[in-house]
Amino acid sequence: MKRVGVLTSGGDSPGMNAAIRAVVRSCRYYNLESVGILQGYEGLIQNDMLTLGPRSVKNIINQGGTILKTARSEEFRTIEGRKKAYQNIQKNNIDGLIVIGGDGSFKGANIFHQEFNLPFIGIPGTIDNDIFGTDYTIGYDTALNTVVEAVDKLRDTATSHDRVFFVEVMGRDAGFIALNSGIASGAQNILIPEKKDHINELIQSLEQSAKSGKKSSIVVVAEGEELGNVYELAKQVKAKHPDYDIRVTVLGHIQRGGNPSCQDRVLASRLGIAAVEALMKGKTNVMTGLRSNKIVYTPIEEAIQKHHSIDNELLKVAKILAI
Ligand code: ATP
Repeated sequence: MKRVGVLTSGGDSPGMNAAIRAVVRSCRYYNLESVGILQGYEGLIQNDMLTLGPRSVKNIINQGGTILKTARSEEFRTIEGRKKAYQNIQKNNIDGLIVIGGDGSFKGANIFHQEFNLPFIGIPGTIDNDIFGTDYTIGYDTALNTVVEAVDKLRDTATSHDRVFFVEVMGRDAGFIALNSGIASGAQNILIPEKKDHINELIQSLEQSAKSGKKSSIVVVAEGEELGNVYELAKQVKAKHPDYDIRVTVLGHIQRGGNPSCQDRVLASRLGIAAVEALMKGKTNVMTGLRSNKIVYTPIEEAIQKHHSIDNELLKVAKILAI
């Protein structure tokens, strides 16, 4: 192992830069060269790469987004695209690849490995926290803090006007952001994709809280919840309760941005170093992760196929505190 390529792929997440920095600096520490590949797999296909050194990654630990840019590459899904990518890997003398991204990016790297035998290590970078093999993914903690800050602000206006606010947060397939930000921001209800048949429960809970004297409520809704449309959900509740003053806020892409939190910077730094060390030890097709605050390596096939499940204890916490 002499030259390591690093790329970010799929959706960006805050802390990806800290991970790039950790990869580049640990490469230098261990006397390896590092090459940054721009725009994910697209940069491999287009041969868009640059040599990186410790000073190329200065002043980025605090920045959201990714200095390497990211992309969703359709061409990499084809064998022709991956052949071009491999030719550029050879041209640039890259011996191992570090992929920072979500499970889609790991699937791509896994197929690439099966075809061309290039060692690779995955680093979980996604705000959704939906990857098996790690307690936390890079960007999740920052996204949670962004949501909580936004909901705190909405609470001020909800309370002043006696309104019910439906706040949609990211999470097409997983309710981690909704559940944890909902608990932290004191939501009356939290709707997540993992839990079905919750509209009746929601209406009952709002009725109950109104009876107990509550005049305003926050409902946090993951974008992937049952109806998949927060406006439709609000409409259905309004149809039952025309007396409720309902407002909808969709937080959208602000959840992806911003300066990474301390937790995400430390996580990204640890996983970046662990990924380089894994390549040096001859590991391949594994994802670095953190479990019970210890670095672990999970076979990439498991990381792709298994699900990181919601903790039932958290569902209980949300329910008890909504009384
Ligand atoms: P996020 O969780 O933010 O969506 P992700 O890594 O899951 O991130 P995807 O868009 O699913 O994002 O995948 C990123 C890229 O990985 C794709 O654009 C494609 O280039 C590559 N990729 C994904 N699946 C495959 C596959 N089956 N074969 C080849 N390449 C793939």
